[in-house]
Amino acid sequence: MKLQDSITTLKGIGGKKAEVFAGYGIETLEDLLYFFPRKYEDRRHETAIENLEPGKDALFCGTVISKRYSGNPYKRNTPLTLLVQDDTGIIEVVFFQGRYIEKLFQMNEDYSFYGRISSSFDRLQCIHPEFHRAGDPADIRGILPVYPAISGISQKELRKLQLQLKPLYGEVEEWLPAGIVECYRLAGPAYALENMHFPTDGRQVLSSKYRLIFDELLVLEAGLFYIKNDNSQNRDGVVINPAPAADFQKGLPFDLTEGQMTAWRDISRDLAGGKAMNRLVQGDVGSGKTVVAEMAMYAAAKSGFQSVMMAPTEILAKQHGASLKADFTPYGINVGLLYSSMKAAEKREVLAQLDSGEIDILVGTHAVIQPDVVFHNLGLVITDEQHRFGVNQRRLLTQKGANPNVLVMTATPIPRTLAVILYGDLDISQIRTMPKGRKPIKTTLADLEKRARVYDFVKEQLRAGRQAYVVAPLIEESDKIDAKSAEELYEELRDRLKPFSVALIHGAMKQDEKDAVMASFAEGATKVLVSTVVIEVGINVPNATVMVIENSERFGLAQLHQLRGRVGRGSQQSYCFLISQSESQLSNERNEIMCRTNDGFEIAEADLKLRGPGEIFGTRQHGLPELHISDLVRHGDVLEKAKDAAKEILTEDPNLQASANMQLKSRIKKMFGEEIKLEL
Ligand code: ADP
Ligand code: MG
Repeated sequence: MKLQDSITTLKGIGGKKAEVFAGYGIETLEDLLYFFPRKYEDRRHETAIENLEPGKDALFCGTVISKRYSGNPYKRNTPLTLLVQDDTGIIEVVFFQGRYIEKLFQMNEDYSFYGRISSSFDRLQCIHPEFHRAGDPADIRGILPVYPAISGISQKELRKLQLQLKPLYGEVEEWLPAGIVECYRLAGPAYALENMHFPTDGRQVLSSKYRLIFDELLVLEAGLFYIKNDNSQNRDGVVINPAPAADFQKGLPFDLTEGQMTAWRDISRDLAGGKAMNRLVQGDVGSGKTVVAEMAMYAAAKSGFQSVMMAPTEILAKQHGASLKADFTPYGINVGLLYSSMKAAEKREVLAQLDSGEIDILVGTHAVIQPDVVFHNLGLVITDEQHRFGVNQRRLLTQKGANPNVLVMTATPIPRTLAVILYGDLDISQIRTMPKGRKPIKTTLADLEKRARVYDFVKEQLRAGRQAYVVAPLIEESDKIDAKSAEELYEELRDRLKPFSVALIHGAMKQDEKDAVMASFAEGATKVLVSTVVIEVGINVPNATVMVIENSERFGLAQLHQLRGRVGRGSQQSYCFLISQSESQLSNERNEIMCRTNDGFEIAEADLKLRGPGEIFGTRQHGLPELHISDLVRHGDVLEKAKDAAKEILTEDPNLQASANMQLKSRIKKMFGEEIKLEL
């Protein structure tokens, strides 16, 4: 039996069940071993019958003193009532399907029961308890693990499978250095696994869980430290004089906001300092991050260094390219554009100009990290909308220069406490103020009855020359309830919004099809864009003033906020409509927050409270590895300790070359996957 064996080697798991498990990410014995209980039921202590309380689950024992059918005893599903007695009282135990159960109980014998206690006409009752004959190796006693539900697999089966895994505990060796184990008083890993699945007392569970959480967070922190080290945090970086940026600032048609000023102060300090900058600028859509980045690029150019700016999509790269050209050409600074679908000849020319140093600033898609892209002297690397890129892509870009400065911009607002962990390898600046004169978007909640009025309003806006987005939730096959699919919606709106042109864009379309639709919308030829969430990323169409989100209950707060950020980019008043058919409290709370505020950070805090970090970080959207047992907020204290331990290990062995750290290295690799390059 090996950790990496398939779960089909276990008794009771055939192809069908293996498929079910695979749906939950469980394929190997190791996966199953690390599939932990959600909670435990304490069934160690039996309660005397007189002390049983209705509404609570309890374990009780007693003698069966009567068996009685309440109905026709010849019918299979006639309920059976047992009277069970101990020294203190009597309780009724009821089973439906009585004829099948009856044979399992002998009169005047003792049994244990576990179930929810209720009462009926002042008599104590327990309906459908688990039960066991006294004296049997009682599997309903003790502390019982309750696993997260896996469809079609009972708790009993899950427990039996774990029983088969017991011989594997021996294969799990201590992998942390002895000093760390001792200093943080950690339980051994085999002990921890055994007690998670087969606990005998509560303290063991706590110390076991602590060990496993500690392990996971240690690997996370060590991975982040490793990246940070490698990002040449402490090595000399390119020094750029920030002072000339003042000239560029003077040429802007507006004053910087307070948030922009603070971010710029942070950046200038980094640029002038000897170490390479590694900074994240967080700010809502429209908060003016790009301007701040431009100041840095300007300073770099004036210090004689090239800059590169990487955007997640071709549309965005082109958009940035056009606006940077407009902003920089008056200063004699040369901007080049690069993306993969360019003509070969054009590409060659850009690459040549880049190599010779003729191009000062390169804007592009991930095409800019390809091996054929060679810079003359790269001093500043900027990535926009960071969560679309892996850590590794950022690293590849950084390697194109000799320790260039790195600036990452993201419009995904994350509460600071979490950002520190999430972007452990970066310093953080936040822009929390919006430019003056920006009209806050008016957000309205509409139910199905008001839906027609929403589209009347959309039509009015279209008549006034504006454009609109309509978003439909993505629909999975299995899930055809009554949510509107983008296609249906498109058909409906083409009719309803006549004579205005409506176009559809969705994730399954080819890239060039998508680009064509987007371009037509950006030019104003298309008036209404019906889409799935593909428009989430940065597109800028200032003339679009309405965002309608259908089935808004199907989106998370962060997503709703991102979507709403597509409008409100011009001088006109903008509107957002949330069309929701859900009465659920969660959905109501989300809608209420959306209507109340436009502040992304406030929304992020609220999101965290509503959903908990587990869900926010559950997706890989933010580039953080998935965590299985730990929770960044609830386990904040363990995180601190794990961070100290990780620091200790990496200070002593920065490249993780010591043989004692081999396991840590491979665990980091497993957790971070493609995003981290570790020589093993
Ligand atoms: P972000 O990248 O954060 O979404 P941008 O940098 O694209 O935001 O800025 C959005 C718009 O606001 C741009 O048209 C920009 O010129 C303008 N802008 C930026 N800063 C200011 C400011 N301080 N005052 C007025 N307008 C600003
Ligand atoms: Mg932007």
